[in-house]
Amino acid sequence: MIKVEGLTKRYARTVAVDNISFEVEKGQIVGFLGPNGAGKTTTMRVITCFLPPTAGTARVAGFDVLEQPLEVKKRIGYLPESPPLYPDMEVSEYLTFVGKLKGLANADVPKRVNEVCERCAITDVKLRLIGKLSKGYRQRVGLAQAILHNPDVLILDEPTSGLDPKQIIETRELIRSLAGDHTIILSTHILSEVEHSCERVIIINQGKLVAQDTVTNLTNRLRGSESVAVEVAAANGNLNPGEVRQRLEQVAGVSRVVLKDTKANQCAFEVESMQGRSIRPEVARAVVTAGWDLNELRPIGFSLEDIFLQLTASEKAEKKSEEKPEEKQPEEKKAEAKV
Ligand code: ADP
Repeated sequence: MIKVEGLTKRYARTVAVDNISFEVEKGQIVGFLGPNGAGKTTTMRVITCFLPPTAGTARVAGFDVLEQPLEVKKRIGYLPESPPLYPDMEVSEYLTFVGKLKGLANADVPKRVNEVCERCAITDVKLRLIGKLSKGYRQRVGLAQAILHNPDVLILDEPTSGLDPKQIIETRELIRSLAGDHTIILSTHILSEVEHSCERVIIINQGKLVAQDTVTNLTNRLRGSESVAVEVAAANGNLNPGEVRQRLEQVAGVSRVVLKDTKANQCAFEVESMQGRSIRPEVARAVVTAGWDLNELRPIGFSLEDIFLQLTASEKAEKKSEEKPEEKQPEEKKAEAKV
């Protein structure tokens, strides 16, 4: 649905985006992650036809942002970091205005405005002035304007910035509920945001693409092994944690079993695999064939924070060794392989 190839954007003195390529499949929700100044907003502005690229291409639903910007804009809903709202307008008046701007048929506008108000939980403030709304409500009005013309693609730039924790949770839920119907790119510098809302993550740093993968794959790739939280229980009331532990240690591919907690008739472990081994199916089988109940079997990832620090540290290491070419060693190759 979105295809970015060799995209570069230079400002007068800065290369904000440096030869990045990525794709987003239909219906996916992808996190676009990077520290402030990484080039996220610039990339989004190119995809949404607000800025022309210096080099490379960006296509939305097969349409090129330079050659067919109108076709691209029809298919995109954009929520910039500061939503384009008019404080002196009432919510419904503003959405009606945006609906007409976006080319909805006059007769369809009221119905569609009602629908998006319901979807974004702003029906109760429809007749309020936008300038009098809380930041959380304003953000939802921003989302409502972005989805008004039912675009295939939603580009959301830091959608929860400046919101309080309750508003953050509500906004995340709303965004998650929009995935599936829409392909979503969600830009953020908040790592946990991506973990909560996104299936895939694209990480950029200093204008360069550092990684793109699922959160689980990224974690496993960096770590090379898998950690699993396992909770075992015994319906008959007899559970010996030592025995369970021994049984888990015998599972092929398991390198380590750590007892985390014991309660009446149940115990929790963290089980780690050997490099490159997937152990969840075997662990499940071992528990069930031993006659115990498997209450939980959950992969424990690294936090994205760990991933991000490791990836950007690899970048730094790479840069350093580029300064001293004679010292290029396997470490650098590893970093390159990760990119
Ligand atoms: P992010 O959204 O990840 O915080 P941006 O895309 O806003 O990053 O910025 C990337 C880089 O480009 C930064 O170094 C920023 O200072 C620079 N930049 C962004 N917009 C402009 C502009 N209009 N003119 C010049 N430099 C800019």
